[in-house]
Amino acid sequence: DPAHLLSSLRRKLGVQGDIVSPASRAKTKEVFGEELTPSQVVERICRDVQKRGLAAVLDYCARIDNVKLDAESIRVPADELEKAHRDADPHFLAAVRRIRANVEHYQKAILHRDVVVETVGGYLRERYRPVRRVAVCVPGGAAAYPSTLLMTVVPAQCAGVKEIAVLVPPTKFGAYNPDILATCFELGVNEVYRLGGAHGVAALAYGTESTPKVDKIVGPGNLFVALAKKYVFGEVDIDSIAGPSEVVVIVDGTATPEFVAFDLMAQAEHSPGSSVLIGWEENILRDTLSVLEARLHDMERGDLARSALEEFGAVILAKNAEQACELTNEIAPEHVHIATANPEALAEKIDNAGAIFLGHFTPVALGDYAAGPSHVLPTGGTARFAGPLSANEFLHATSVLHFTQDGLEHLAEDVIMLARREGLTAHLASVEIRRRRAR
Ligand code: NAD
Repeated sequence: DPAHLLSSLRRKLGVQGDIVSPASRAKTKEVFGEELTPSQVVERICRDVQKRGLAAVLDYCARIDNVKLDAESIRVPADELEKAHRDADPHFLAAVRRIRANVEHYQKAILHRDVVVETVGGYLRERYRPVRRVAVCVPGGAAAYPSTLLMTVVPAQCAGVKEIAVLVPPTKFGAYNPDILATCFELGVNEVYRLGGAHGVAALAYGTESTPKVDKIVGPGNLFVALAKKYVFGEVDIDSIAGPSEVVVIVDGTATPEFVAFDLMAQAEHSPGSSVLIGWEENILRDTLSVLEARLHDMERGDLARSALEEFGAVILAKNAEQACELTNEIAPEHVHIATANPEALAEKIDNAGAIFLGHFTPVALGDYAAGPSHVLPTGGTARFAGPLSANEFLHATSVLHFTQDGLEHLAEDVIMLARREGLTAHLASVEIRRRRAR
């Protein structure tokens, strides 16, 4: 029953505000002394940081992350970044440089350009300027993601953002991870805070004496980060909500079960990550599941992937390709991989997806790590209205208008009509007075 399946997937995916692991629930109890939902936790933390500033931020670092920091040590010193870079594996740094070039190549090509529209007696212009100061969230709770630095910082640099602050939790996968620090240095980022979770987001959204306020906060994170971004929106801008990973793989009989099995496992190993397989030929679905079962045994993160597949996975036997696309649009997943004979034709029917990967030789991992579009994508069904993080997310538009006396005259009667109807007499007079002067 597709309707039932979809509603149960929707409930499980994305930022629901109350789905957390037992360990996380226990942490909340330990920190706050009572059972609270993640939304309540985030609201408390953000309000407290807004009220008490740095003192509150440092308190939460100690109570949630078990790390004692002060006004200075909250920021990674420049020499620590430089040392990590000096000690880094040169092959790793060479890969970072090559990927940076790929990301730049794509992100610069797609940058919005100013648009000028000539009109009677003047011109109109859509003008783009970079956001002045941004914070980038890089997760560090469960794994280290130098790739996320590349996929957030480089687009911001392509847009011309002057000040980029990185927020990374004080963990071995975060602010104490040599690959993360070396990548920051390689990318020319020197403002790195040992901060994660909701208190990290709040620190940069409201600003403290150690963490100057930013204009926009972007990047992925766990539920607490995602909810905190939602909470501070308005005080600062945010990108989309990038939560736990998802993929829908659409297959026909030309797909290779072994390839598809790894595509499904690749999202599931994020844990939580959701993998949905959709096809209309039963054999390929069965074959893929047998390979998946066998391969899960030998994978390093096989247990994690298995539990994610059991909890958040699904296999759908659709009636035909049409229905497979309709279901995919309903799910609106972060990634869609179309492993069929005619992927481009099917892609035209998919309206709602963060990123679409076409054909048998474009695994999602290419986009995750190296191709050029950012891997920070809308999740949890938000691809219905949101798109990938890109250099354009770091631009903001301004409308520019310039008219001569002739241009004013051309629009005057209509402005006067509307202003009179709305009772805004000063608006009306601002036009009338100029007309009279001109005569
Ligand atoms: P994270 O680094 O986003 O957050 C960790 C922080 O959350 C901790 O340091 C702590 O401060 C806070 N926290 C944890 N439990 C808490 C609690 N009970 N109460 C209050 N605060 C708490 O975490 P992560 O575990 O690394 O998760 C990152 C998520 O982002 C994963 O789901 C991963 O798959 C996803 N991800 C997505 C992308 C993408 O581009 N979409 C990229 C990388 C990672």
